[in-house]
Amino acid sequence: MSELLIFLGPPGAGKGTQAIKIASKFGFAHISTGDMLREHISNETSLGKVAKSVMDKGNLVSDELVIEMLVERLRNDDCKNGVILDGFPRTLPQAESLENIKNEFPVSKVFVFEVDEDELVQRILLRGQTSGRTDDTEGSIKVRFEIYMQDTEPLINFYHRQEKVTKINAVGDVDEIYQNIAEDLNKYL
Ligand code: ADP
Repeated sequence: MSELLIFLGPPGAGKGTQAIKIASKFGFAHISTGDMLREHISNETSLGKVAKSVMDKGNLVSDELVIEMLVERLRNDDCKNGVILDGFPRTLPQAESLENIKNEFPVSKVFVFEVDEDELVQRILLRGQTSGRTDDTEGSIKVRFEIYMQDTEPLINFYHRQEKVTKINAVGDVDEIYQNIAEDLNKYL
């Protein structure tokens, strides 16, 4: 059995940055579905070919494809000590897919990253100047926010009802935010 920690929050909230730090400190695997999809794109796999145009517009890749990719990834040996999910689940069907495998991979905690929208747009546009990500454009960001509010934000309630949510103020110093998450995890573990 390996426990899943979910990092949930809008695009640009800093989930990836914190996930890398927390994963290395606690020995968890870090799984970013966005990174996995970008790898498929650069390797020109059949999934990558489907994902590219969807992602550039800021839309979501289909639940079916992402769920299959994620569940396969969880079977890797490096997931045995626990996993941080960064960017998954993003929709209710994706959250339900985790319910189906909860005996093997129970969700233990959900960290919700809170940042206001103006700050997020600035962060992503700035990131776009250096990341080379073809979806860090104004049009795509707008779509990603709308989808976040419509499809992903309801998951906060879904996990709130399971009493798994911890809110994180994700504005401010990267190390301070990291300390807050690490402290909370230390209490839990
Ligand atoms: P951001 O958090 O800035 O949106 P990500 O790297 O998490 O960046 O995601 C980039 C894009 O990858 C998304 O806009 C979406 O098209 C696709 N993607 C990532 N994770 C998922 C997922 N769980 N379900 C569907 N699409 C996804």
